[in-house]
Amino acid sequence: MYAKVIIDIIHSEVDRVFEYKVPDDITLDVGFRVHVPFGRANTLREGYVIGLSVKCDYQGDDIKSITKVLSDFAAFTTGQIKLAGIMRRYYHTTLALALRLMFPAEMRGGRIGDKLERELVLSLDDEAFEQAMRSLMTANGKPKAPKQLEILKTMRQYGVLKTAALEELIPGSASSRDALVKKGLLEMRTVETLRNPRKTAEREEDFDLTEDQLNAANTILSATGKYLLHGVTGSGKTEVYIHIVRDCLKRGKSAIVLVPEISLTPQLVAMFERRIGQEIAVYHSTLTAGERYDEWKRMATGHAKVVIGARSAIFAPLKDIGVIIIDEEHESSYKSDMHPKYTAHEVARMRANIENASLVLASATPSVESYIKAKNNIYQLVQMPKRLFGLKLPDVEIVDMRDEVVRGNRTIFSGLLYSEISQALENHRQVMLFINRRGYSTFVMCRGCGYVEYCDRCEVTMTYHANRGSLMCHYCGRTKRLRDVCPACGKPYLKHYGIGTQQVEEQTKARFPNARVLRMDLDTTRGKDAHLKIYEQFKNGEADILIGTQMIAKGLDFARVSLVGVVAADNSLFIPDYRSPEKTFELLEQVAGRAGRKDPGKVVVQTYSPDHYAIDFAKKHDFEGFFEEEMNVRRTALLPPYSVFFRFVFTGKKENAVRDACLDFEKGFREAFSDVFDNLLLFDYGEAPIKKIQGHTRWQVLIKVLNDSNLAQFRKRLYIYTDTKQYKDCAYGMEINPQSMI
Ligand code: ADP
Ligand code: ZN
Repeated sequence: MYAKVIIDIIHSEVDRVFEYKVPDDITLDVGFRVHVPFGRANTLREGYVIGLSVKCDYQGDDIKSITKVLSDFAAFTTGQIKLAGIMRRYYHTTLALALRLMFPAEMRGGRIGDKLERELVLSLDDEAFEQAMRSLMTANGKPKAPKQLEILKTMRQYGVLKTAALEELIPGSASSRDALVKKGLLEMRTVETLRNPRKTAEREEDFDLTEDQLNAANTILSATGKYLLHGVTGSGKTEVYIHIVRDCLKRGKSAIVLVPEISLTPQLVAMFERRIGQEIAVYHSTLTAGERYDEWKRMATGHAKVVIGARSAIFAPLKDIGVIIIDEEHESSYKSDMHPKYTAHEVARMRANIENASLVLASATPSVESYIKAKNNIYQLVQMPKRLFGLKLPDVEIVDMRDEVVRGNRTIFSGLLYSEISQALENHRQVMLFINRRGYSTFVMCRGCGYVEYCDRCEVTMTYHANRGSLMCHYCGRTKRLRDVCPACGKPYLKHYGIGTQQVEEQTKARFPNARVLRMDLDTTRGKDAHLKIYEQFKNGEADILIGTQMIAKGLDFARVSLVGVVAADNSLFIPDYRSPEKTFELLEQVAGRAGRKDPGKVVVQTYSPDHYAIDFAKKHDFEGFFEEEMNVRRTALLPPYSVFFRFVFTGKKENAVRDACLDFEKGFREAFSDVFDNLLLFDYGEAPIKKIQGHTRWQVLIKVLNDSNLAQFRKRLYIYTDTKQYKDCAYGMEINPQSMI
């Protein structure tokens, strides 16, 4: 027997199959991890068996043999091996790297494995037990070995005990215990235990689905396909997922459910646990390595059939997948920021095809990218346009902050927001105050008239760089001088702008001294369960006001919240990113979704740009209208999905090396692509908007091309070109439609 093995080395020259002989005393199967001798020195390396055959293609007679297997079960399903092959081509990566995504990293090098514990078993019948007791006593009934006697009595009570548990009951008993084992009166064995044993959550009865829920679920279950489930906040999407997953389990299939971030969706996980039970695995990055391994193994060995997890759970070692569900599909956390830069959507499509599974993308605010696919019938659109139980989406009131400035109100609270908060507090209801802030969102705005500085060419806001004292477009590199007065109204109110959560917390405490205030943002949620704690506190009514970033906008369901305030919609509207209107609409709609989930609720949105279409359509809860307008803007400015950005960032400690690499890449590109160079929508190179991060100099090349039938070919050529370009003292990577252009 021969095995086809992929060696766990990330290098293009090793990125192929190596054949090894399987020695007679080794049993293995496709998907096993093995140790093999590799290279001239026969160094032991980890490898992955991706195929077995009775014949081998290798011609020489010195074929090497597998040294040993690293675990007695398959680490990969055949579906995963196929997936890795497809990812290799699509993301231009190596098979070994693609395979590494499919199991916990710490398994490599044996840094993590089964947690083994020793346990003691007493398997003597009554007679044998009496005899054993007697053997430990003198003829006149005095104990010869009191400790051993005590252990035997204890074991009689329990039957089976972990050694650690026995030690707790009878401290200092190890040597007596060993003596009993030696005499054959006790048996000691090694057992595998789980680090994070699943709490047996109380089982909960199923709801009767509403007509809308039933229609949605039945449509999706009627045929294998790719679906976009557009259901407004509070339409009861989770119940639909559970119904679908249940159906899969009934048919003997497994299911993958992706959520943007587990710690932000405790309710969804809890709900699945209560309703589906033991067959669930939970998989995400805040588990310890050991816990993650255990969850992974429960899936790989068929003990868990449903996984709920973050992005990486798309690689779960499940067989016979029936459905892949991506909840809140619009979230940017589904994009990986590490090489290979995959998105969960892309991988989910590949996997669904391989497994012949259905794919369900779901959101109250689908991404423009996914919605256009539904329009083009690549996805089938399934809609749940109404909230459950006849509840209405909350009223959204827009406050024009320019009026507040004119009135001399310099606080962050408009008159309306202030009085609404006061009233909610008086009625003993809860309030959520929301502030969006991503990185360095310092755009320049006139607080007198709301004028914002845009790049004339790119339809994105320009970013203020204090060290340069000027404005810069992160999409094309153009710069502008910071003006003294607003070109629109002539007043000297042109300032760079951005409010943070801390500032909101301070002012809230000052204006509402009797309110109990909680803050949820990156700073306050560093600990392992920090999210959950704040979430529980607020849910239990231990606070009146929750202040937070986009974190609090997600799937949380608080019944007592009657008011949601968006303190500065502009923060989100003017991020230098072509997606900022989309993100703003999405955020407003999601935060509005937090209000009035039991009784009618209200949303107050403060902005200097009350007429912006993203705000206007969010006020009307009109997704379709927003989408049409957004597509107009994108078409006119030739932004994605009508075009694609490719960005290469060059970094390194040596300034000259980085600059030279970037210049060489640029020059080489012009030559290699001379036939299509004039068709590019944009080709720009130079220092990155942020020239240095942590001592690393940064340069960039930015390319924009039309998204047409030539794109796939262009992308392929780009990969081939980058293969020929490697630099000393300078690393670079490619990003497609980057999330951030700093
Ligand atoms: P969405 O994700 O669409 O915003 P959820 O799935 O969170 O909505 O559902 C909102 C609430 O309604 C949840 O508390 C859920 O338990 C409850 N719910 C959902 N479907 C039903 C139903 N058919 N009957 C009763 N309650 C339901
Ligand atoms: Zn520009």
